[in-house]
Amino acid sequence: MSEKIFGTEEWAKELIESLGEMQHNGIGDGFPCPRCGHYRMDNVLVRNALSRYASVYICSPCGMDEALRDMAGREPLPFLEWGMPLGFLEEEDEDVE
Ligand SMILES: [Zn+2]
Repeated sequence: MSEKIFGTEEWAKELIESLGEMQHNGIGDGFPCPRCGHYRMDNVLVRNALSRYASVYICSPCGMDEALRDMAGREPLPFLEWGMPLGFLEEEDEDVE
């Protein structure tokens, strides 16, 4: 991280893929799903779903949602609407007050 501009789609993707790297290195345990933000990732990484749009594992329901959107010809969920970047953006808002 990062010369990307905070709050942009590119920034969101980089943030998400930084978690993907941690997952890859075996230190991503205990994090919520980066897409929906719920703590429902399987501890066994490969039992989760690999996102079609970023190098990161997401929970099975999110994997299903990506597949269904794809089948329906709908746009993928923008990275900025994933739970992980949203969490960061909300923290930033709290700082502003
Ligand atoms: Zn999810």
